[in-house]
Amino acid sequence: MSYDPNNIFAKILRGEIPNDTVYEDEHVLAFRDIQPQAQTHVLVIPKGAYVSFADFAETASDAEIAAFVRATGKIARDLGIEENGYRVISNHGRDANQEVPHFHLHLFGGQNLGRIIK
Ligand code: IMP
Repeated sequence: MSYDPNNIFAKILRGEIPNDTVYEDEHVLAFRDIQPQAQTHVLVIPKGAYVSFADFAETASDAEIAAFVRATGKIARDLGIEENGYRVISNHGRDANQEVPHFHLHLFGGQNLGRIIK
């Protein structure tokens, strides 16, 4: 699947759509989900153009992958959800109901998450 430069997260990265940023660095942007499914619900995205988890895993550089994973851990810690626990999910493709074709992680926390799956 080729990358659609008009997907909503690409527009957020270009500053065309506002977002509630919680973290940003050279490789990563994280912002609050517009329809939160938990007390804390943040989306973590790479700045590079990757369609999905598989695309990111297969084609991103080791430096981008390391920066992304480390940033996600730091974001959870900085949001104060590390101690009580959190959940990280990525929806890849049709069966997972991936809506936005720019790779992202959902970071859920701030409450007992029970069996919520996004
Ligand atoms: P997916 O199903 O894993 O692709 O999830 C996409 C997520 O993006 C959903 O949880 C949406 O609520 C969220 N979302 C869509 N548009 C925006 C936006 O403009 N800002 C923040 N979150 C968004």
